[in-house]
Amino acid sequence: MMQAIKIGLEIHVAIPTKTKLFCACAAYNEQEPNMSVCPICMGFPGSKPMLNAKALEIAKSVANALHSDMAKTVSFERKVYFYPDLPKSFQITQLSNPVSKGGFIELQGQNKVRIRRIQIEEDPAKILREEDYSLIDFNRSGRPLLEIVTEPDISGIEDLKEFMGEMKSILYYLGIDINAELKADVNISGQGERVEVKNVTGMKNMINAALFEIKRQEAARNSGTAISKETRSYDEAKMATMPMREKESDEEYGIIYEPDLGEYSIESIPVLEPVYASRIAKELAAKHSASEKLIMEQIMFDKNALQLINKFAGMYKINTVVSAIEALKKYNKVLDNAKFESLLMAISKNMFVSGKTIEAIEQGKAIEAGPEIDESLIDSAINSMLSENKGLLRDYGGNPKVFNFVIGQIAKKYNASPRYISTRLNILLPKFVAGKED
Ligand SMILES: [Zn+2]
Repeated sequence: MMQAIKIGLEIHVAIPTKTKLFCACAAYNEQEPNMSVCPICMGFPGSKPMLNAKALEIAKSVANALHSDMAKTVSFERKVYFYPDLPKSFQITQLSNPVSKGGFIELQGQNKVRIRRIQIEEDPAKILREEDYSLIDFNRSGRPLLEIVTEPDISGIEDLKEFMGEMKSILYYLGIDINAELKADVNISGQGERVEVKNVTGMKNMINAALFEIKRQEAARNSGTAISKETRSYDEAKMATMPMREKESDEEYGIIYEPDLGEYSIESIPVLEPVYASRIAKELAAKHSASEKLIMEQIMFDKNALQLINKFAGMYKINTVVSAIEALKKYNKVLDNAKFESLLMAISKNMFVSGKTIEAIEQGKAIEAGPEIDESLIDSAINSMLSENKGLLRDYGGNPKVFNFVIGQIAKKYNASPRYISTRLNILLPKFVAGKED
């Protein structure tokens, strides 16, 4: 029998601050290697770290958005190990006193994925491996990272995708681009002991690594092999996980209190208001009887789209607002509210909106309203298109995309929106097919 799959994550994302976590060096720049460095981020003896309050503000805002219990004071630990990318021989991280503990992200269907803890830590330097030597770039050394640890509440690949989509959207609205530097440890147990896949980079690889592990563990179980607790790595090219040399567990690292930073009160640090785009999409869809998915597609990762929908959804049909936003995205345009309203008016008249239409609106020209779209004219055009294209009907097989080209032609000819024509087509097609069978 299949056992329940449990996935837990340790997610690392870059905190977008101007300067590094413990010094005044620029955190992100495209300069040559080792240009954004100082004695602190190169770990010179005697240098002392100074905490970046902005990094704490962003970390607190994430904790707040994920309903996590905020600490009043934070402190730091030194995780001691020797590696060339870490010349001071320890990484400053948080263990006993992180930014927050607990929390959750809500998924559809009342599912919740609990958060265990949220902490900040510094990134080590970057090692560039060449044929027979290695180079070290300290530009990355000391960049602030946010680590979010979940409980093993993710119950499969679909859950994982949804969870990461929610996380990505919540972080997007707090100014964090998860794609910039997403690294995760993915823990999977389904058929016995917990297997940890270390250092998986990017969302796509996280999903593929989990997929591979679920199948591997199932196959092992079906053949009667026990799954042992182990650490594995993910090979992106082979899309497979493989055993990794056992590294020390946290208990085996030398961990000591970081005396240079001490206790740091974070109570007075402000938080940014969270935005839960999927919840907003659900509410808008219910209120305006529209498709939740369609609204989600527009607003999950687009502040501007959310602002436009909030402003205009009461005044125009929400599908009209969504179509207008789609048109702006398609032609890569931004309009102010007054000009956006001209676009809304054109679309609500079922007009065909081209790049030229939007350019005209941009330049403040009056839009050629054209004749009101005549439904019977469009219907007869569709019917004659269906009679003339028996080949398309044969290829149709439930896939309306085969009609896209003809829809485009009719749209142009009558200056009507393709969406309107495809709506009419969906109504006329079954009647047409039924008529044929008589
Ligand atoms: Zn520095």
